Amino acid sequence: MRILLTNDDGYHAPGLEVLEAIARQFSDDIWVCAPSEEQSGAGHALTLNRPVRLVKFAERRFAVTGTPTDSVVMALRQVLDDCPPDLILSGVNRGANLADDITYSGTVSAAIEGALAGVRSIALSQVHTPQSLASNAPFEAASEWGAKVLAPLIDTPLAARTLINVNFPPVAAADVKGIRVTRQGFHDYARGTVVEGKDPRGFKYYWFGLDPIEHTLDHGTDLEAIEEGFVSVTPLQLDLTHYSTIGVLAERFSG
Ligand code: MN
Repeated sequence: MRILLTNDDGYHAPGLEVLEAIARQFSDDIWVCAPSEEQSGAGHALTLNRPVRLVKFAERRFAVTGTPTDSVVMALRQVLDDCPPDLILSGVNRGANLADDITYSGTVSAAIEGALAGVRSIALSQVHTPQSLASNAPFEAASEWGAKVLAPLIDTPLAARTLINVNFPPVAAADVKGIRVTRQGFHDYARGTVVEGKDPRGFKYYWFGLDPIEHTLDHGTDLEAIEEGFVSVTPLQLDLTHYSTIGVLAERFSG
């Protein structure tokens, strides 16, 4: 089984090493093609207004001077053009990709690009709290639970244009309660704050912060599973159509 690894935290991110250790439990045919620099929050961006470069670090190991989506495109169309991967794994992201994080997420978007190309694709993220991030092994839950979560996902039949979003709770591996299949939750309020500052020349700048966001823990959501100490496994679809609204709008526009 050929596995392509990518992420949005960048080629040198610790989470990519964690992901490779998980992937090697399933195959030795591992390829890496990841952004050369951090691209968190890049969403599904595709670089169109400048060239991208492919940097080869070693056999089967590449970085791309672009977004996570660029990395998957380069991997599929250039690096692995005549030998496509059977599986794309994106992560392990440093931080949650839950609820409405999903459309901002470069990690999930790399998996979206894989799903669009017809390759089984799974995004993996390690949820963090300030405490878990400061611990000795901030990716411990992902390290220990990664293979357990992936094993059934590797051969479960998936519909076209779907992907899987996995999040690991911010606790020690021994404290993980188990694995839950969930739906996407939504935070209650718009995300983030805008912090204003002044640069060394006195000009204003603005920096988006990611303060903790309040949310109601709807039953069955990814947010609830993580809050209760479970690994969340959420199937996602690329068809964003809201079907019941089609009829409503069609009626409004008719005649
Ligand atoms: Mn990231």
